[in-house]
Amino acid sequence: MSTPLIGVLALQGDVREHLIALASVDAVARPVRRPEELAEVDALVIPGGESTTMSKLAKAFGVLEPLRERISAGTPVYGTCAGLIMLADKILDPRSEQETVGGIDMIVRRNAFGRQNESFEASVDVTGVDGPVEGVFIRAPWVESVGADVEVLAEYDGHIVAVRQANALATSFHPELTGDHRVHGLFVDMVRAAG
Ligand code: GLN
Repeated sequence: MSTPLIGVLALQGDVREHLIALASVDAVARPVRRPEELAEVDALVIPGGESTTMSKLAKAFGVLEPLRERISAGTPVYGTCAGLIMLADKILDPRSEQETVGGIDMIVRRNAFGRQNESFEASVDVTGVDGPVEGVFIRAPWVESVGADVEVLAEYDGHIVAVRQANALATSFHPELTGDHRVHGLFVDMVRAAG
């Protein structure tokens, strides 16, 4: 696969920023809302935003089940912040009617960093990326615990903030909001390796 076609789930959230980040690391990126659009892409990004809203919209657009099927079939996926929550097999404190897509064997706590500090930036070392990444945390979740097949890629302040399980990658922070697109580059390398 030379230039992968990567969809960005465009129900809600910072879709545009991901489209720009992906284009800068040699992928073709396009928004995805409907099952037919999902079927066309090689890989998917689930953006930051609000996971409860995203979950309800995914159901309304009939794309929640197709997402589960693609991801369990091994389609590469990268979720940031609300996207990380969407990829969790389990949420500690789900809002009513909140469902996740799942795909990563982890338990996630929503708004975990929020109480101390609504939003902040911090330098984070991410396995697979050379040198520290500026992490933008916005009402960010953390990963409370992971299963045996999940690789922890980054921790901040004693909490897990980046993980990978097979072809699924997730970060609590938002690399799409900085000009540094190395984490997207890491994801595109995963997509190429899977393809
Ligand atoms: N706290 C949000 C949620 O629960 C996530 C915030 C974000 O994506 N920046 O979905």
